[in-house]
Amino acid sequence: MSAWAGGEFGPGELTCRDLAEIITDYFEGALTPNDRLRFEGHLTECENCTRYVDQLRVTVEVTGRVGEESIPPAVRVELLEAFRGWAAKER
Ligand SMILES: [Zn+2]
Repeated sequence: MSAWAGGEFGPGELTCRDLAEIITDYFEGALTPNDRLRFEGHLTECENCTRYVDQLRVTVEVTGRVGEESIPPAVRVELLEAFRGWAAKER
């Protein structure tokens, strides 16, 4: 379900796609404590997202920041498609 709109999450857990949408906020510390808990809760259950977050964390450590410059739109689209692929494989 995509109950998420404009930074507020509905009840229930994050999907991989939700996570991809808010990951930059996570690294910028812009998530609310509640959203952050959901984000981290998803990571405990999702190996693919954990790997992605680890990769991005390295990028953040190298560049010192995360944002539009470190995640070009094309890469972002690729990531979202990768998430879709993972989801399809798991079902
Ligand atoms: Zn996931």
